[in-house]
Amino acid sequence: MCGIVGYIGPREATEVVVDGLQRLEYRGYDSSGIAVLCDGEFDIRRSVGKLQKLRERLNGEPTYGHQAIGHTRWATHGGVTEANAHPHRSTSGDIVVIQNGIVENYLALKAELTAAGVHWHSQTDTEVIAQLLDREAKASGDFVIGFRRALLRLKGGNAIVAMHRRQPGLIVAARLGNAGAVVVGLGDGENFVASDIPAVLDHTQRMVFLEDHEVALVRADSVSYQQIDGTALDKQAQTVAYDPVAAAKGGYKHFMQKEIFEQPRSITDTLHDRINLEQATVQLDSLRLSDEQLTRIDKIMVVACGTAWHAGLVAKFLIEGLARVRVEVDYGSEFRYRQPILDDRSLLLAITQSGETADTLAGMQVAREQGVPCISLVNAIGSQAARLSDGGVIYLNAGPEISVASTKAFTTMVVGAYLLALKLATLHGRMDKVTMREHLQALLELPGKVGEIVKNTTVYEELAERYRHTNDMLFLGRGINYPTALEGALKLKEISYIHAEGYPAGEMKHGPIALIDEEMPVVCLCPHDDVYDKMVSNVQQVKTRGGEVIVITTEGDTQLREMARTVIEVPATLPWLTPILNTIPLQLLSYYCALRRGTDVDQPRNLAKSVTVE
Ligand code: GLU
Repeated sequence: MCGIVGYIGPREATEVVVDGLQRLEYRGYDSSGIAVLCDGEFDIRRSVGKLQKLRERLNGEPTYGHQAIGHTRWATHGGVTEANAHPHRSTSGDIVVIQNGIVENYLALKAELTAAGVHWHSQTDTEVIAQLLDREAKASGDFVIGFRRALLRLKGGNAIVAMHRRQPGLIVAARLGNAGAVVVGLGDGENFVASDIPAVLDHTQRMVFLEDHEVALVRADSVSYQQIDGTALDKQAQTVAYDPVAAAKGGYKHFMQKEIFEQPRSITDTLHDRINLEQATVQLDSLRLSDEQLTRIDKIMVVACGTAWHAGLVAKFLIEGLARVRVEVDYGSEFRYRQPILDDRSLLLAITQSGETADTLAGMQVAREQGVPCISLVNAIGSQAARLSDGGVIYLNAGPEISVASTKAFTTMVVGAYLLALKLATLHGRMDKVTMREHLQALLELPGKVGEIVKNTTVYEELAERYRHTNDMLFLGRGINYPTALEGALKLKEISYIHAEGYPAGEMKHGPIALIDEEMPVVCLCPHDDVYDKMVSNVQQVKTRGGEVIVITTEGDTQLREMARTVIEVPATLPWLTPILNTIPLQLLSYYCALRRGTDVDQPRNLAKSVTVE
C-alpha cells in the first residue's frame, strides 16, 4: 500500500524522490522517509504524518546526493512512529531498505537474528529485511548475492528496494509475490524505481515491470535484471501512454468530486470501440479466449474486494440474467482460503481498479494453479492482474482514479461486466439482434443520463447539512440494486465515517428493522422495475416506524412523493443499468456529507488506494 520511489543520476535525488512520493499521495499513508547516499554515508530523514512534514524536515535539515530511496508507509507491523517509518537501516549502517508488503515469517527471522546478537531499532517487519540483508551481504561478500539470498528467506508479498553504503552507484529492487508493482523507469543517464507509474512519469515514459521473484540492479547509466536465483534476464521496456493532466485536480476541490463528475466521460471511454450498433455486436478484442472457449464456460467465479466486489455482485445479476451462465462472487480474501469447486468449464473473472489488490491476485493464482483461465476487469494498464489474465483483460479505460473512495472505477466496472454479459449472452444463444440493439442503445445513452444526474447537486448539499450529526444510515435495495445499497453504505462510511449498513430490502424485517427510529435516515432504491412495488412496501414499513426515507427512483414517479421525506429522481433506463444511475446520487450524498463533516475526502483515515497487503 505504501509508495516507493528511488532515483539514481545527476540530479538532486531528494527532490526527485520527494516529488515522486507526492504523486503517490493518493495511496494513503501515515509516515514517510528518505535515505540519501552521499560520500559513503546514508543521510536519513523520516517523519510521521503527511509528506509535507517530511518536506519541512528536509527544508530545515537539507540532504544532498545523487542516489536516494523514499517511502510513504501504511503501517502494518509496529505503530505509526518515526522509528517505524522507512527507510530502515541495519545496525552496522551498511544497508538501507524500504518495503511494500508484509514479511509473514518476520517473527521467526527476528528470533533467529536476535539470537545472533542483532539489536532492534523499530517494531517493523521491514527492519528484519535490513538486518538479514546486512548479514547475508557480509556472509557472501557481495551485496547483490546477499540481497538475493535474503529474499529467498522471506515469506509473503513484498516489493523491496535497498542500497549498500559501500556500493555507491547501485540501487537494488525486487518483487516477491503480490505486494504491488515494482516499476523501473528508464531515463537518459538516470534511472528510477517506483511502486507506481505516476511517480516517475514526469521523467520518463519508458518502463519495465518486475514480475514475481525478479530483481533489478539499477545504475545511473544501465539497468540489469535477474531471477532470484541469479539467472540473467532480458526484459523489454514498455512505453506507457498516460496523461499527467488527467491526474491533476483541475478546477475541483477534491479528486473524488472530479471523478464523480468525470463519469459520463469514463463510461464513454469504457464503451469506446466496443459496441457496433448496426451489427448489434459487442467487441472485446482484448479477450484472448476464443468464442468457442467462451461458449464452453458454464461457471464464472468473480473474485474482487471492496467496491469491486459490489461490481462483482452486479455482474452476477447481469451474466446470470442475460447469458444464463452461473456466477459465484467471492471476496478475494475468502476465495483463496476456501476450496472452490473449479473445473475445465470454469472461468475466473477478477475485478480490480489498481490491478494490484493482493487478495484478488492471490485468487487468480489459485485459479491458474488449477488450470482455470483468468480474465479481468482492470483500470491500471500493465498491472499485475492484467499480466496474470491469461484469458485477456477488459480495460476500464476510466483514466487515473486518485481518490481512495472509488467512484468512476465502480461504474465502469459495471459497464465492463455488462459488455461481457452481452457477449456471453450472444455466444450462449440467449440474445437476438433486436434485444441486443436495445441493450446497446441503452448503454450508449448512459453517459448523457449520468451527466443529467450530476448537473444539480443542491439536494445532496441540503441532505448533508440535515444529516451532519447523524451517526447511522441504512441503505436498502432489491435485486440488482441490492449491491447498489451495499456500495452506497460503503461509500458513506469510507469518507464521512458515518456508520452505514446496506441490506437487501427484503431482509429488513429479519433484523435491521429494529434499528429504525426518528434518528435513522433510510435510503431506499426504488427504480421502476419488477420489484418496485415491493420496495414501496419497504418504504411504508420504514415510515410507519418513524424512519426518514430518502428515495432514489425513476423520473416521473408519483407514488413515493407522499411517503418519503426526500425523493431523488434519475432518468429512466433498462432495469439492468439502474445500478449505475442509482449509484451516482449515493456517491454525491457521501461526498457532500464528508465535505460538511470536514473529513479528509480523498485520503480517508486508515484507508489506502491500492491494497497490496493481505
Ligand atoms: N509492513 C511494513 C511496515 O509496516 C510495510 C507497510 C507498507 O506497505 O507501507 O512497515
